[in-house]
Amino acid sequence: MFGLIGHSTSFESARQLAQSLGFPEYAQGDLEMWCSAPPQLVERFSVTSATGRTIEGAYIDSVFVPEMLSRFKTARRKVLNAMELAQKSGIDISALGGFTSIIFENFNLLKEQHIRNTTLEWERFTTGNTHTAWVICQQVEKEAPRLGIDLRKATVAVVGATGDIGSAVCRWLSQRTGVAELLLVARQPQPLIDLQAELGGGRILSLEDALAEADVVVWVASLPQGLTIDVANLKRPCLMIDGGYPKNLDSRAAGDGIHVLKGGIVEFHTDIDWQTVAQAAEMARPFRQMFACFAEAMLLDFENEHTNFSWGRNNIQLDRMDWIGAASRRHGFQALGLETETIPSLATA
Ligand code: NDP
Repeated sequence: MFGLIGHSTSFESARQLAQSLGFPEYAQGDLEMWCSAPPQLVERFSVTSATGRTIEGAYIDSVFVPEMLSRFKTARRKVLNAMELAQKSGIDISALGGFTSIIFENFNLLKEQHIRNTTLEWERFTTGNTHTAWVICQQVEKEAPRLGIDLRKATVAVVGATGDIGSAVCRWLSQRTGVAELLLVARQPQPLIDLQAELGGGRILSLEDALAEADVVVWVASLPQGLTIDVANLKRPCLMIDGGYPKNLDSRAAGDGIHVLKGGIVEFHTDIDWQTVAQAAEMARPFRQMFACFAEAMLLDFENEHTNFSWGRNNIQLDRMDWIGAASRRHGFQALGLETETIPSLATA
């Protein structure tokens, strides 16, 4: 059995979800009440691969909301409690979705293996980042040419280049795709210098300078609320892959010739009979689309690979991306693409 550990995108949407699930006391509760609420296994469902194999899954709401991010102890407790519930529910492999994997890594929860009388078994959990990185690379490779961007002549900026997903994307784009130039963007200089040495290339630039030069921008950082993008400064056409969480680039970078695509999202070959996940995830096609990290847990279960496939920071290797990518195709997932009507040359063809 696979599990998805997630959360609502905001306190307001969490309250609405609680109302629709029949928990009026939560729907009316304040943030303090939510901070002390335990995780809930809210839904069970089955999923059938394109190969015909059916597996069982469950969605665990960690009852975390992004408004709790600044409360270190609460965020830590929410993630660990949700993992404990997944393990106690007998789930073989669970994906840490949304902010839960970031909290796990950034708050170094690897040191917190004992929760009450449970010892967390790390092999039951995956961040899902290998599949997310692979999907984002597929999106770059498929969608840039649709906009007339030849990747072998193109400049691609990766914002969040030194992160777990960003570094994997950089490895793939430089070694597999063979993009003409890679621009590396993050805040701390030393990891950028280390990444540049590992890649044997790439140019380190500020965000503003990188945006002015890039034909494709891959965003794999959670960006500050106040960040604004000077749209006039961008090249045309420009493909922007919004791979961060939450996905809020389209409101900041809208404009003629700028194509924003939700990154790290996959579409399944058939509808999935889930209701709460559909409501919580806020996708355009909620019964088929999901975060690639969630799909990784399904893929590992389909493949009977019950192991923490994506774990730790900055060690996603290309052969692992190949493996999860082949499984992704085999079981009926495809990376989300641009809507044809948003590409003028194709829409009028
Ligand atoms: P990491 O914490 O490993 O990496 C974050 C990266 O972003 C680092 O390079 C960091 O470097 C950089 N960064 C952070 N803030 C800024 C900023 N203001 N400007 C420029 N760079 C910045 O995260 P992950 O790689 O695990 O995840 C990256 C993003 O992808 C997250 O937003 C995560 O929520 C999202 N995600 C999306 C998924 C999906 O859509 N399917 C699945 C999983 C994750 P530095 O600190 O030096 O700036």
